[in-house]
Amino acid sequence: MTNDTFHIDALEDWKRTHDCGSLRAIHIGEEALLMGWVNTRRDFGNLIFIDLRDREGITQIVFDPQVDEESHGRAHILRSEWVIAVKGKVSARLAGQENPKLPTGAVELKITGIKILNKTETPPFQVDGAVDASETLRLKYRYLELRRKRVFENFRRRHLITSCIRDYLNRNGFLEVETPFLTKSTPEGARDYLVPSRVQKGHFYALPQSPQLFKQLLMVAGFERYYQIVRCFRDEDLRADRQPEFTQVDLEMSFADEETIIGIIEEMMADLFQKVMGRPISLPIPRLEYKDAMERFGTDRPDTRFGLEMKDITDLVRASNFQVFKSVAESGGRIKTICVEKSASSFSRKVLDEMSQIAVSMGGKGLSSAKITEDGWQSSLDKFFSKEEKKEISRKVGASPGDMLLMMADKPKVVNQVLGMLRLEIAKRLNLIKSDVFSFVWVVKFPLLEYNEAEGRLEAVHHPFTAPMEEDIPLLHEHPERARARAYDIVLNGSEVGGGSVRIHRTTLQDEVFRLLGISKEDAEMKFGFLLEALRYGAPPHAGIALGFDRLVAILTGAESIREVIAFPKTQTASCPLTDAPSKVDPSQLDELGLCLKEDS
Ligand code: ASP
Repeated sequence: MTNDTFHIDALEDWKRTHDCGSLRAIHIGEEALLMGWVNTRRDFGNLIFIDLRDREGITQIVFDPQVDEESHGRAHILRSEWVIAVKGKVSARLAGQENPKLPTGAVELKITGIKILNKTETPPFQVDGAVDASETLRLKYRYLELRRKRVFENFRRRHLITSCIRDYLNRNGFLEVETPFLTKSTPEGARDYLVPSRVQKGHFYALPQSPQLFKQLLMVAGFERYYQIVRCFRDEDLRADRQPEFTQVDLEMSFADEETIIGIIEEMMADLFQKVMGRPISLPIPRLEYKDAMERFGTDRPDTRFGLEMKDITDLVRASNFQVFKSVAESGGRIKTICVEKSASSFSRKVLDEMSQIAVSMGGKGLSSAKITEDGWQSSLDKFFSKEEKKEISRKVGASPGDMLLMMADKPKVVNQVLGMLRLEIAKRLNLIKSDVFSFVWVVKFPLLEYNEAEGRLEAVHHPFTAPMEEDIPLLHEHPERARARAYDIVLNGSEVGGGSVRIHRTTLQDEVFRLLGISKEDAEMKFGFLLEALRYGAPPHAGIALGFDRLVAILTGAESIREVIAFPKTQTASCPLTDAPSKVDPSQLDELGLCLKEDS
């Protein structure tokens, strides 16, 4: 029989008895019926061996003409990725032929009947192979990539995490409520995806950047505890690990403050780690104030799996003879250092040059370094510092001989950014990050507002509905930029996996914050008048949080990118090679919407 003459069989009354991952020695002698894909085929003429694969695993099946001549005859035409159903007897593999790497490796199925359920075109890449194809090709044929066990297992775990979170929130009295996708834009700081209305031409819906306002309305409605595992849409340039649509575990609670939310999330994480990762996490999760996170790690999402904290030595070098440090200190800049313990020998000239390049590429002026030795510093800076000054610096940063000091002087923001980045880089290069460590930290007491230099105005660090700390409310008049927010972020291994806040539930305070943000009364009324109105109808105190679910799953599966844990992700240019979205539409569709495109689009 040739490839062209075979026929596709109907299943008829064939029913699967097992999946391809479950046969063991105890099944020897039993009849089994398996269905799946041909993973690999070894044709020895007389005997044909096939590794049959389904989502649960692989079972070796053997076609032996002495067992069933007809099946053996048909098995010759099988190729990788054909879909078949087979039945036969579970047998022990010949001594020495067992495969300890496969859970089913002690047995094989001796085939007595086969149905060919489908054939395949030659796949554009091998399913059972290395990740060799380009990402675009793998995304175009994503369904083939998803057949790969390692990829599939990410989705099994994602499912487990989702159900675990749902169970936990259900047990704790949260109600899952859906909120609209076709809505009015909610400001979370990104660009909206717009959807034109056909019925009301010239009007647009926005896809939600988050259900923020709706969940607050549900609190006004008296729902008390809401959650939703929900898709959010943000039209951002896809830097690094972002997707235009992503999933949040979004929740909101009435009569709650930051402690209530933090408590709920900590218990949820503990439950999740126990059930999904099979390990406990220790509670409470440590907390860091924003200003300390910036001071010690240079970022508001510190990776706390390793040390390498930065120390400020501005006051110690202000009076030194080193002009560069001196003038930075005098002009309000900072000099900070990272001490890399017992690693001076890992910093060759080449490594230091690379680090300096990173510093410069991030807008820094350069990086200074010193190897600490018994007799002082091995550094071009040695001569500028007195013995006493060097001793003081070593004492402050806890340095001893054999350590490496990296120093940076610049505007505070630049120093933090650059040293924060180098801290991660050094940890990677020196292998200081253990892969099976999960290190959580809460970052709390964020600033409420920050100055946007480009736009020349204050903007909300979290979002405009976040409450200031009670004790900082008086600051709002004179020094609004000093006011801190009742906001909190949960950080895991240096990634922000969630953020939320206590909300403003008093209209007067909300008006005041809008004023500070330069949002006029009319503008506020037009954009979120419905929320302001709702706040006037007995809004309870409420607080909430949203977890970045894709990122959380990526960390818990060890995936390098969130794309690996999204079934059909988009590329860096926000397109989908599989469906070819976004794509042009028929002019009649535009017509119906009352739209016409500019010449150049
Ligand atoms: N809506 C916020 C966000 O998407 C989270 C929150 O404050 O609950 O970041």
